[in-house]
Amino acid sequence: MAEDQIQDPKLQVEAARKAFEQEFGRFADFAENSARLNALDLKSSEAEQRALDELRTRHLGKKSALAASKKLIGRIAASERGSFGQFVQQNEAEITDKIERTGLALKAHVELARTAREAIDVTLPGTRPRRGHVHPITVVRERIEDIFVSLGYAIEDGREIETDFYNFDALNIPENHPARASQDTFYTTDGFALRSQTSTVQIHAMQRRGAPVRMIAPGRVFRRDTPDPTHNPMFFQVEGLCVDRGISMAHLKGTVAEFLRRMFGEQTLTRFRPSYFPFTEPSAEFDFSCFKCGGTGCRICKNSGWIELGGSGMVHPNVLRGAGVDPEEFSGFAFGLGIDRMVALMYGLDDIRLLFENDVRFLKQFD
Ligand SMILES: [Zn+2]
Repeated sequence: MAEDQIQDPKLQVEAARKAFEQEFGRFADFAENSARLNALDLKSSEAEQRALDELRTRHLGKKSALAASKKLIGRIAASERGSFGQFVQQNEAEITDKIERTGLALKAHVELARTAREAIDVTLPGTRPRRGHVHPITVVRERIEDIFVSLGYAIEDGREIETDFYNFDALNIPENHPARASQDTFYTTDGFALRSQTSTVQIHAMQRRGAPVRMIAPGRVFRRDTPDPTHNPMFFQVEGLCVDRGISMAHLKGTVAEFLRRMFGEQTLTRFRPSYFPFTEPSAEFDFSCFKCGGTGCRICKNSGWIELGGSGMVHPNVLRGAGVDPEEFSGFAFGLGIDRMVALMYGLDDIRLLFENDVRFLKQFD
């Protein structure tokens, strides 16, 4: 075989050239015919660039037939060497030129296609990120806070896990009271209770600030209720406390009535019904005239014209004493109401569990 190669090196070069021309065929008019290039999208142009690179390696690389022919130059008779060398170089130059020109045309086309792809139409409207909004409970809580701040109340933030002292004893709830039973309250393994009412904040506030004090405390409370349309084991309350010299039931009624007028409108009426809570004496539940029908009766007020809202009363002397306030000198009132229930009333929800399921389709209606 070696003999043959030496005998006919020119044929070898010609065979290499022929093989190249065959493979190059599909690129042949890329450089001359812009219509053919323009028919290629960016992805296929890039694929053609890679195919051309491989073609270059196959026909001009170190392992190409042409490179093998070059090695023969030294073994050819001196008289033939010059013309054979020229023949090899000429073929190499022509192949190189074809590949180069095609490569340049492809490169220009790819750059154009990339620019077109990256071009931004600045006249098109942008896509605005959707803004979030606060939860309906937060909306109502903030409205309540605004009203009481304008009445001179401070806003207190209480702890959600309490000792028995703050959750029960300090609130005048004795050891054998049913509220302390484990079927009504969540206890941790260390014997702490998840607070079952925001009234616990009253004690902390009086201990820290002393008297006089005026504060509201909105926050979560926990009870072992089975979830249903009107109950949830976790819900929101707001607690109010006012302790000063000479505070009477009249102050309580005036404050609650003013709050409800600002919340539901000037025409809102308030009424108090005697009730019982361990931490207040006397105690009263309060209702307000239905904001929907104005008192004539509708579905929301169950045709009574009134909506029950919360509990209240004069702070029990034992509670004042337990928090280090002298009941001989000071008196006060306290009230509490459920925020979730208010939200459900105001937005006409028939199931308060909707408020905690975090279904965006539900929540985005309150934007
Ligand atoms: Zn009504």
